[in-house]
Order: sequence, then structure tokens, then C-alpha cells
Amino acid sequence: MDVRNCSRCGKIYAYNGFNICPECRREDEEDFKKVKEYIDENPKANVAEVSEKVEVDSKKIIEFLRQGRLEIREESNLILSCEKCGAPIRTGRFCEKCTVKMEREFKRSIGGGRDPRTIQNGSAMERIRVTDRHRNDN
Ligand SMILES: [Zn+2]
Ligand SMILES: [Zn+2]
Repeated sequence: MDVRNCSRCGKIYAYNGFNICPECRREDEEDFKKVKEYIDENPKANVAEVSEKVEVDSKKIIEFLRQGRLEIREESNLILSCEKCGAPIRTGRFCEKCTVKMEREFKRSIGGGRDPRTIQNGSAMERIRVTDRHRNDN
């Protein structure tokens, strides 16, 4: 079992592909629901307002947006900007133009499309066995 420390609360938990423990994830889910509900009802609200009303850290709200889990429907509500060119976006990290461009560049640089993660994960604890040799002194 892969045991790690939660990157948020520091508690030890069984690693399951997430950097935070199940408890913190549950908390995130609750926050996410609250934020989503509020934005659904108040599409014009900005992050600061949402943060204040639902008592969720604005950094977390932006994280939700960056992850593409939340989407701002109101066009005038420009909370996010493309990390590459600065164009206003409503969800994710990059604008459509940059996404397309990056995908094209990525495909070109990868070439054959090989999986870079071809490191073999050897069986956990392979012991080196030392066989006892009997000397044959003639
Ligand atoms: Zn935690
Ligand atoms: Zn862009």
C-alpha cells in the first residue's frame, strides 16, 4: 500500500491517485457544489463575491475553474485569462487558439507517439540469492 501525507492537512492516508486525503477531497467536493450552485444562480458574480458568499477560498475557486470543472457562462464575466496569451477565457487554462496550437506542437515533438513512461516497475523486493558453493579441492 502506498501511504502518503496529505498535501493539505498533513494526515497520512492510502494514496489513491490524488495528492490530498479522502477527507480533504470530500471537503473539496462540498466546496465545489456550493460554488457551482452560487455561480449557477448568480452568473455575473466574480470570484471575490462567490468566495465571500459561500465561504470558499478564492484560490480554490480559481483552481476549480482552471481544472475546467466550473464554467463561467456569462461572457462579460472575465475571471480567467489564458496562461499563454492572456486572452479572456471562461474555463480551463488556455484559450482555444493556444490549445490548438499547443496540441499541434505537442504532436510534432512527440513524433512516433511513444509513451515516455516506459520505465519498468520491477517486482518489489527481488532478493539476490547467493548460492553456496562447495569448493572442490582436488
Ligand atoms: Zn487531508
Ligand atoms: Zn491564448
